[in-house]
Amino acid sequence: MLITHDTRCALDTVVDLVNTAPEDDTTPDGLPDVGALEVFVRDHEVSEVGVLTEFDLAAVRKIRGRFAAVFAAPDARTAAGLINELIAAAGTTPRLTDHDGYDWHVHYFAPGASVADHLAADCGMALAFFVVAGEQERLRRCEAPDCRHAFVDLSRNRSRRYCDSRTCGNRLHVAAYRARRKEAAG
Ligand SMILES: [Zn+2]
Ligand SMILES: [Zn+2]
Repeated sequence: MLITHDTRCALDTVVDLVNTAPEDDTTPDGLPDVGALEVFVRDHEVSEVGVLTEFDLAAVRKIRGRFAAVFAAPDARTAAGLINELIAAAGTTPRLTDHDGYDWHVHYFAPGASVADHLAADCGMALAFFVVAGEQERLRRCEAPDCRHAFVDLSRNRSRRYCDSRTCGNRLHVAAYRARRKEAAG
């Protein structure tokens, strides 16, 4: 499937957003305050964002949970239902743009949309195209038991299992190796 620059950006943004969520009660939230949201928005070059407030923070955390559910969806139908809800709640105004020197691409968020609606519309549409292309299973969660980070598997044969093979893939190999050695020694 063809993945354009802006789709790639939207995918990176939604993956990073989902992964700011605390994994359990002991880990900190990656978006603890409005300042952190400002940094996130700047780092991901989310365009046309005004002054951010506590309201924006709460709304972004809410859609973060809904995007997490898309990555955990067991099949395309479940993912489609979740994505439809996200996009419908955000409202969309598709329009062509070539802002900031990028080639022509389509923005979906409505002009003046809140940052949460902006992310729900544009990231939601980026994920929608995966369902359309029959590629929903590329939207994954890391298989390392202590990780579960979201990622998009862009490998040719959809064989990626870990968010980062150097850390999570490796960590799992090391754990399996230690378990085998322990078994052999015992
Ligand atoms: Zn754009
Ligand atoms: Zn991982």
